[in-house]
Amino acid sequence: TGNWDPRLMAGHAPSGPQRLRNFVAGEFVDGGSTFAKASPVTGEQVFEVDEASQSTVDDAVAAARAALRGPWGRMGERERAEVLRRVADELERRFDDLVTAEVADTGKSIAQARTLDIPRGAANFRAFAEIVATAPTESFTTVTPTGGRALNYALRKPVGVVAVIVPWNLPLLLLTWKVAPALACGNAVVVKPSEETPASATVLAEVMAAAGVPAGVFNLVHGFGPDSAGEFLTRHPGVDAITFTGESATGGAIMRAAADGVKAVSFELGGKNAGLVFADADLDAAVAGSVRSSFTNGGQVCLCTERIYVQRPVFEEFTARLAKRAGELAYGWPTDEATATMPLISHQHRAKVLGAYELARSEGAEVLTGGGTPTFGDTRDGGSYVQPTVLTGLGPDARTNREEIFGPVVHVAPFDTEDEAYALANGTEYGLAATVWTRDVGVAHRAGARLDAGIVWVNTWFLRDLRTPFGGVKASGIGREGGVHSLNFYSELTNVCVDLS
Ligand code: NAD
Repeated sequence: TGNWDPRLMAGHAPSGPQRLRNFVAGEFVDGGSTFAKASPVTGEQVFEVDEASQSTVDDAVAAARAALRGPWGRMGERERAEVLRRVADELERRFDDLVTAEVADTGKSIAQARTLDIPRGAANFRAFAEIVATAPTESFTTVTPTGGRALNYALRKPVGVVAVIVPWNLPLLLLTWKVAPALACGNAVVVKPSEETPASATVLAEVMAAAGVPAGVFNLVHGFGPDSAGEFLTRHPGVDAITFTGESATGGAIMRAAADGVKAVSFELGGKNAGLVFADADLDAAVAGSVRSSFTNGGQVCLCTERIYVQRPVFEEFTARLAKRAGELAYGWPTDEATATMPLISHQHRAKVLGAYELARSEGAEVLTGGGTPTFGDTRDGGSYVQPTVLTGLGPDARTNREEIFGPVVHVAPFDTEDEAYALANGTEYGLAATVWTRDVGVAHRAGARLDAGIVWVNTWFLRDLRTPFGGVKASGIGREGGVHSLNFYSELTNVCVDLS
């Protein structure tokens, strides 16, 4: 697969679509049939991807099971941490290929791929190498009925074969966020990237081999969800646990599939995240931070802010400044360092987002900027771009304010009191992230306590320490990953009680 021509990033495959295969038991293998992957920048087909059949998935699960019985299963956590650090080194060595693969798949800007997506791959492996090697262990001494003493301790063991299913928005970042702790805990994985983003996962398979990860510990299957590799994995009797990031509705389908085998699940799902701008906030910071939180990655981050509530005294000024900045975000080729927008992942997703713009209008929204598609007069007109959009004028019950859109769009509305702000922010079925802009330390801490969200950022957005718990409440997820919370999902604890008398 080693042909990562930089022209792929501009949506052009000069020597025709590049073939991407499955990776099973340490070898690249065909899948039976193939599917086309188009560039979101131009619509041109850039990859030809092997779709894993049921038997390819069976082979991958069997390879993972076999790897657990091999040398991998006998390593201590310090040795595994060493393997993780070698993977991080190799990810850094393949940095340029990973940037090319990620930009080719998503159309995101090269600047973002270089500063956020790709560095986080290596950072995830380094972080979990440290976390697993330094994780606290539990031990207790207990008085026995005869007055003797017993020692209890908890042994951390791998769960077994873990299925890792991830979406297309931050492909390498989200994949490595799960693979790193799964391997740190001694599991073997079968990963299924999104059908929209097969490329960086393919480079990751090469990285695993080059870093000396034993064959079968990391397996990659390409394909879709229902009746394809995704469902083959979630229904597979040889899979012990499923970690999934994606839409809430997909999480429900996976939970039903997992129920038969009573498989453990960890879900990071959708959001309809609120920003709260209080009148005392540093308005420059609030505007700049809100531009980032609503439009980073074309608004295609689960943590993006799609609703902003602004305290009435600063509502007019904040809204005008936000709309102006959103309208000025620079279009450009992904390879241009100044580019601040990106296409949506596919024409299908663009149709959904444009449908949301139409719905907003029909619900009575005023469009302050954007609301349509840009034209370029070049091959990008075949891509799936939409304009960054700022809306206002809708009530909290409008569908535009309740349903996740997952595009570069935000609705802005005023509030008066602090209580009202929390009620508005909490008024959806989701509860992933919230962002609060204030100089009042009391508001900052009350917001943390009162918002239905797995993450509350105060005067910042998307600042992450990988040791902290990450996840959502309500329809935004089940469980937490990050730091020791990841170790708890990717391992089983056995309590051993030894009577010392
Ligand atoms: P999606 O749910 O459509 O797909 C995610 C993955 O699941 C893909 O690999 C897909 O092929 C697979 N899949 C789909 N149906 C399946 C099924 N029935 N069985 C098994 N696998 C199946 O999500 P998407 O459109 O790729 O990603 C966007 C969504 O992801 C948004 O809702 C976003 O909020 C969410 N997301 C959440 C987080 C988080 O950390 N909470 C992070 C990123 C994205």
